[in-house]
Amino acid sequence: MKIFIDPGHGGSDPGAVGINGTRESDVVLKVGLKLKEILINNGFTVRMSRETDEYVSLTKRAELANKTAADLFISIHCNGFTNPDAKGSEVYSYPGNAQAEKLAGILLWHICNGIGTANRGTRKENFAVLRLSKMPAVLVETAFITNPDEEKMMCGGGFAEKAAYALAKGICEFCGVALSTAETEGENFEHWGSVHLENLLKKGYIKNPELWKDFDKSPTAAMVLALADKITGI
Ligand SMILES: [Zn+2]
Repeated sequence: MKIFIDPGHGGSDPGAVGINGTRESDVVLKVGLKLKEILINNGFTVRMSRETDEYVSLTKRAELANKTAADLFISIHCNGFTNPDAKGSEVYSYPGNAQAEKLAGILLWHICNGIGTANRGTRKENFAVLRLSKMPAVLVETAFITNPDEEKMMCGGGFAEKAAYALAKGICEFCGVALSTAETEGENFEHWGSVHLENLLKKGYIKNPELWKDFDKSPTAAMVLALADKITGI
């Protein structure tokens, strides 16, 4: 099976941008690259529309997928809306494509389950990448980057892994194969902050690791001052 992964946007087109400046193009590239790794480890052949922060037109994306004769086309996006309360996941397919609609349903279930988002349902839309791709094609809106909570989730440790594993599970289910690396699921990935905490503990700058273990919480000013004082202390 050959899977074409299409991380949306890139280069001059950042896609939707969260209130804290998180760019859709960056988030979906991370998910796409992780998905590529997992699928290759599971015996799939993978092609991508982009593997760096570069601009690729919508027609070019579909052309690349058609040229490589991919079996499935998976476009990865983050949703955006003017109302910051909008949240959850949805997956699109082209009207009238039953195989793509089936794949959309499977992927949506896995993504909601994998990253813990609300299920907004599958939808049909005349998106260029879906219309121009010859194989079953879906567009996954992982979550809303314009929702502050979901933006925070996207920036948190393990998001790309969780989303990628969810998509890989769905692709495997659609193809009727088992995901062989399920034991290393996203939930077990360490937060990126843990390595820094460990280093500072080793160096003796931090004595009470419990105070710092809630990696996505802000420390108090006193905690930051005390740490900076220790590190810069004479
Ligand atoms: Zn997008």
